[in-house]
Amino acid sequence: MEQMATEKRQMRCPACGQESWLVRTPRYEGFRRVGETLSCAMCGQEFGSEAEVELRAGGGRPQVFTEADRPGPVRLFEAGETDRMCRHCAEYVVNPFLQRCMLHQREVEATDTCPQFRARAEERGDG
Ligand SMILES: [Zn+2]
Repeated sequence: MEQMATEKRQMRCPACGQESWLVRTPRYEGFRRVGETLSCAMCGQEFGSEAEVELRAGGGRPQVFTEADRPGPVRLFEAGETDRMCRHCAEYVVNPFLQRCMLHQREVEATDTCPQFRARAEERGDG
């Protein structure tokens, strides 16, 4: 059985210097296989043998994305009105059953705003 499909192996091409693939293409003379052509997938440079290129172990693909390419955290609220919400206030206390303002001694919502707002210590200064 003759394999028609080309075989690719990861390598570093000495001709173009890129992380590339060595493409192995069977060569035919009429219907008779006379050998194979080894070439670079990136620049098309042909090689006489595998020894001419730097073959990579394993079949891993080149790493394109790195950690540095990730977008930063998305900020939902800009500084302003939302900064004065009870949930950021030093007087705001959360219990399993209710949320209280210790200053006004009453039940509040986390999203309430208050003229007597006092920023909680641990919320200040972002390093
Ligand atoms: Zn090349």
